[in-house]
Amino acid sequence: MHVPLVVTDFLDRAVQLYAQKTAVIDGNWRLTYTDVYHRVQQLSRGLKALQIEKGDKVAYLAPNSTEMYEGFYGVFQVGGVMTPLNTRLTPDDYIFILNHSESKVLFVDITLYERVKEIRDQLETVHTIIVHGMDEDRGQDIAYEPWLASFSEEEIEREPLEETDIASLLYTSGTTGNPKGVMLSHRSNYLHALTTMHHLRVSDQDTLIHILPMFHVNGWGSPFYYTANGATQVMQRQMDPAEIFKKIEAEGVTVAHMAPTVLNMLLEHDALSDAPLKLTQDVRVVIAGSAPPPAFVKRVEEDLGWEFIQVYGMTEISPLITTSQINTEVADKSKEEKQRLKAKTGYAMIGSNVRVVDEDGSDVPWDGASIGEIVTRSNNVMEGYWKNPEATNETIKNGYLHTGDMANVDSDGYIEIVDRKKDVIISGGENISSIEVEGCLYEHPDVREAAVISAPHEKWGEVPHAIVVLREGSEVTEEDLMNFARENMAKFKAPKGISFMEELPKTASGKIQKVQLRKPFWEESGRMVN
Ligand code: ATP
Ligand code: MG
Repeated sequence: MHVPLVVTDFLDRAVQLYAQKTAVIDGNWRLTYTDVYHRVQQLSRGLKALQIEKGDKVAYLAPNSTEMYEGFYGVFQVGGVMTPLNTRLTPDDYIFILNHSESKVLFVDITLYERVKEIRDQLETVHTIIVHGMDEDRGQDIAYEPWLASFSEEEIEREPLEETDIASLLYTSGTTGNPKGVMLSHRSNYLHALTTMHHLRVSDQDTLIHILPMFHVNGWGSPFYYTANGATQVMQRQMDPAEIFKKIEAEGVTVAHMAPTVLNMLLEHDALSDAPLKLTQDVRVVIAGSAPPPAFVKRVEEDLGWEFIQVYGMTEISPLITTSQINTEVADKSKEEKQRLKAKTGYAMIGSNVRVVDEDGSDVPWDGASIGEIVTRSNNVMEGYWKNPEATNETIKNGYLHTGDMANVDSDGYIEIVDRKKDVIISGGENISSIEVEGCLYEHPDVREAAVISAPHEKWGEVPHAIVVLREGSEVTEEDLMNFARENMAKFKAPKGISFMEELPKTASGKIQKVQLRKPFWEESGRMVN
């Protein structure tokens, strides 16, 4: 018997077993799994009425919200492809993604509606715009709630699906260049959900706070695995540390997924407040997106008293393939050593074959020093980049997806990312990991954020340059920090210059955009920046 793995199964299970349980908390709004299920049937009917058929793209431009969560299941039931948009892009990016994806219907949150109005004339395929949070239709655009209410809640007849049908078209963060449209199948989303719920120990006892944006792949998967388990999901629309702490306590949150930058905000908020929080709630903090310095792990465990879990992945793999949780092989190491391991990228999750290989495709020795590229093979891997077979062929080669992340592996099998291929600084023939230099700067008590990039240099070709955000009130100078760096790392790795900024440019998922930081240095030199 062949039963296709399709992600609509997850809500079906939740509504069967947890009909009256709170599924979603969104501001003052509380919906049970039955409420959600009914609204999802209405949404699917509405999409049918708008002629959405199998394979059609349906775009969402919204913060984490009930409406977007409903979209996950309402769109899939009619065979549509969810295409979420990052809420922090420019109008030109929206025009590009909506036209490139050939989206037909666009759902937009009222807070972002103005941006859509500006560009609507340039949208080639979007025929209908539906606005959440608006009371009445405005001209040609439809208000979500009255529209939804006009359709029956009765169970709808589903569009038959194959597991290789595309469920989502997710655009990458654009950290290293233009975002690319990643096609993920139902099977990929499904298997990713199964392995992740196992490794993150997700259960019906959990209350998740959705902090990572759902429009980005790191937050994308959680509506699958928390729903499948009948967990409660709290929607967090803004990155407001005080509000996040309040909700964690008030709603009994047990698990939160976030990027290191948000975690940093929470730690700062706690350290700066007159009365540091007395947190009573035990939380598993799942960190994704970029590597946190080991000092973070210590602060999370010791200052907040929370469990620290790191995962690694990328849009192209659905996304997660490794976790750095302590396993029995390393359980007898010291507390400090374990904190160092947790800050690493980790080892393969079940279902993904993960290797670190040299240029010939041979595994690097597990000595914690030899460096190669992380490659992976699994059914999580994307079907390809939408309308970009050349980029697909460059990324998936010899049966493996090439991540572009450079790493070493220690004797226990813990992989540690040393840098993105594009961020490695090659100085006088030596490779310098920007992450390693940043890690050293983070040890300085006045450094709030640090990004290390390559700057042109006559003699060495490239040298490391640091861009630093200091903690409020700090009077540390460039000279002080350069001395600190020289004392704490090999001289050739220490930054040859330091500049200060109030804030670093970031993607919507909180990643530092080193391309932007590199630009001014390299433009002058007349050389290319990637
Ligand atoms: P683009 O591909 O458009 O340049 P991006 O690579 O940032 O953007 P994503 O797919 O969102 O887009 O991010 C995947 C990348 O994020 C990985 O390749 C890796 O470099 C980084 N990353 C993710 N998780 C971690 C982690 N836990 N530690 C270190 N780096 C991580
Ligand atoms: Mg990438």
